[in-house]
Amino acid sequence: MASRFLRVYRAVPTQAHFSTTAHTLKPASRSAARLNQVQFHTSNRKMAQTSTYTANGENGDHGDTEGELNQWKHRPPYKVHENDANFNARYEASCHCGKVKYQLSREKPLDSKYCHCTTCQKLHGAPFQWAAIFHKEDIKFTNGHHDLGWYESSEKTTVHKLPCKVSCAYCRSPIMDEGRNMILLFPTLINFKSEADRKNFEPTCHMFYPRRVLDINDGKPKWSGIAGESELIADTPEEHKKRKREEDEEKANKEKKDGK
Ligand SMILES: [Zn+2]
Ligand SMILES: [Zn+2]
Repeated sequence: MASRFLRVYRAVPTQAHFSTTAHTLKPASRSAARLNQVQFHTSNRKMAQTSTYTANGENGDHGDTEGELNQWKHRPPYKVHENDANFNARYEASCHCGKVKYQLSREKPLDSKYCHCTTCQKLHGAPFQWAAIFHKEDIKFTNGHHDLGWYESSEKTTVHKLPCKVSCAYCRSPIMDEGRNMILLFPTLINFKSEADRKNFEPTCHMFYPRRVLDINDGKPKWSGIAGESELIADTPEEHKKRKREEDEEKANKEKKDGK
């Protein structure tokens, strides 16, 4: 169980901790002026429409709504206007204003955690962030895919560049962190119908705990940084620390054997 959990986390860092090798939908040759234009327009609520306009304006391909800047629409997690009849809606969620609505098909997230890093604190205006990991195919936007806004925190750009933060462009509710392979949803948007449903999203640990605004003595593991790649600290249960020590030892032995 522990190693599965660690693998999930290694594969899916949070938005604040993604590597800087993220790919971009925008060719490197695109000029700074164009980028400014896109950013200006995208901060204006209608990402889909304005980026279409911008892409058309640049390559002279008038009427092309399938340009590079629009490709996000056809990929998970968005797949705009694609109707999957087999999608089983297990949960319903909406932003504060209700413009953005989505459904989830998976009963339980792949993992769920609290992050206390300062980026999460600032971007959420909250003492810490609660995020649940899903596959991009697990979500279906039923409303408001034209009301989405993006923010990529390393370049501070609002074009759709992964990994990025996704929010409602109207009420600004944070919706999820979109990674290259996974999404980290903010479960506070889900309209849970029962306590049992909410329990399915129970976080397994705290990350970046030294940055905390308040102590949370809930007996869950507390990582000093990214889960599985940092130290277990504070009131982490002894069994978790022991397991981590054993895993570290195992890893060291294996490396020794492999002659590293
Ligand atoms: Zn909204
Ligand atoms: Zn964080």
